[in-house]
Amino acid sequence: MATIEQHLPESHNGVADVSGGIPVENPATGEIIATVPDMDAHEVAAMAARARAVQPEWEAYGFAGRARVLSRAQKWVMDNANRVIETIVSETGKTYEDAQLAEIGYAGNAFGFWAKEGPKYLTDEAVKSSQVLVKGKKLILRYRPLGLIGVIGPWNYPLTNSFGDCIPALMAGNSVILKPSEVTPLTSLLLAEGLRECGLPENVLQIATGRGATGAALIEQVDMIMFTGSTRTGKKVAQTAAERLIPASLELGGKDPMIVLSDADVERAANFATYYSMQNAGQTCISIERVYVEEPVYDEFVAKVAEKVNALRVGKPEGFGSVDVGAITFPPQLDTIKAHVADALQKGARVLAGGKEVPGAGRFYEPTVLVDVDHSMQCMTEETFGPTLPIMKVRDADEAVRLANDSPYGLGASVFSRDTARGEAIARRLDTGAANVNDAMINYTVLELPMGGAKASGLGSRHGAGGIRKYCSQQAIVVTRLGMKKELFMYPYKSRTSKLLGGLFKLLYGRGRRA
Ligand code: NAD
Repeated sequence: MATIEQHLPESHNGVADVSGGIPVENPATGEIIATVPDMDAHEVAAMAARARAVQPEWEAYGFAGRARVLSRAQKWVMDNANRVIETIVSETGKTYEDAQLAEIGYAGNAFGFWAKEGPKYLTDEAVKSSQVLVKGKKLILRYRPLGLIGVIGPWNYPLTNSFGDCIPALMAGNSVILKPSEVTPLTSLLLAEGLRECGLPENVLQIATGRGATGAALIEQVDMIMFTGSTRTGKKVAQTAAERLIPASLELGGKDPMIVLSDADVERAANFATYYSMQNAGQTCISIERVYVEEPVYDEFVAKVAEKVNALRVGKPEGFGSVDVGAITFPPQLDTIKAHVADALQKGARVLAGGKEVPGAGRFYEPTVLVDVDHSMQCMTEETFGPTLPIMKVRDADEAVRLANDSPYGLGASVFSRDTARGEAIARRLDTGAANVNDAMINYTVLELPMGGAKASGLGSRHGAGGIRKYCSQQAIVVTRLGMKKELFMYPYKSRTSKLLGGLFKLLYGRGRRA
């Protein structure tokens, strides 16, 4: 309890004093470890006013000044890695390894990446035009910070998914208000403290703790909203953004398929299926949620996966190396997982590993493998977001592609084949924002590549040039250096000049034969 207190804003004087606040639970023990304020619309509006007041000063830091703060933050995360990991583990119940690899590893990379690459993506572009009337003029495309960005995050990756999106928004010169999930607000509070230590001016980044209503209030205040969460909430966010006519970037749910072709390295495919369905206890938007295996290698693949999953240790993380699969962070998620498994069993599926909630303190579900599954079952069509892996036998690659695309979602996917050209050809047929061949999920770590969903998995993307330009408006600047008193086409209109211009257009655009 004591270590959490220092992460809270000073005005709230520690956890015990936040009456009427939101209790934060350790899902691995069931203990309440902190209480955070449940901020209302007035508090959010006051935050927004403070953020707007300081934004010009932050923008005036320039690329170099902002990059300096972010590079210090990169070092801060590394110097304070143990403290950050302890905080993440305490509010999510995930393993120390999951917190280190996918959160510390991501944040360390992201702070440095945006500090270095941000200026390249946002520097003024000198543009050349084929338009003859602007010959000799200076043409510039400029990216200008939008002002105040709202970031709303989910509970599964408090550092990577909530906080990670603040980094490019800040680098672009914006103020940011982050509304972390009410389930996992402590990591964001700690990181905000870290950024202050690194020299980020007061109020450039603020954390608005609260539930859905706080998130809704935030959208009313900002110039752009970056949302990560469920498709259901994403639609509401999009509606409010449309009313206000502000841009919204939406990173939503998924049901990622994995396809194992008959020429795959089955041992590698089985290891990847096991790891990428169970890491973070399956609570990753791009977890492998379903597998389609070509008939000739189905039995071998299933036997390997069942053996590997049965060997996993699930339970309360007590330090590095203590367990493989941690807790179910969000209480209602356990109900979804149980419902999907029950539905599958009732419709004829078989369990080859796990299949039950773990009794005792904390919230855990056994790593589970299901076979004899099909698309009449929720476990194959709806996001489970838990440590479950349903595996389905398919006749051939065409059937696998058809079933993989038979989903409202389109976030990520993976294809396993020793013939990489064939694997890539299959990957190109999948309606997803990303597809990995002989790999899974790894695209998320490549910050140069866009990461976003197709279909109901989202709108827009993070990472790459678009991942920072979305926090800016584009401004086109045209500078005429040497001008005549009047352009040829101006008043009064004269038939001779009009004919001349018509002839010019024909010369420019009308020559040559077209097929
Ligand atoms: P959620 O939609 O329930 O909540 C997300 C956030 O939205 C929370 O902070 C919540 O308080 C807030 N919120 C709720 N109602 C709101 C409203 N009306 N207006 C504004 N904000 C509101 O999602 P969750 O359960 O926290 O997260 C799990 C989901 O997130 C899964 O579906 C997962 O796939 C998805 N996710 C997607 C990505 C991605 O990059 N595509 C990454 C991580 C998680």
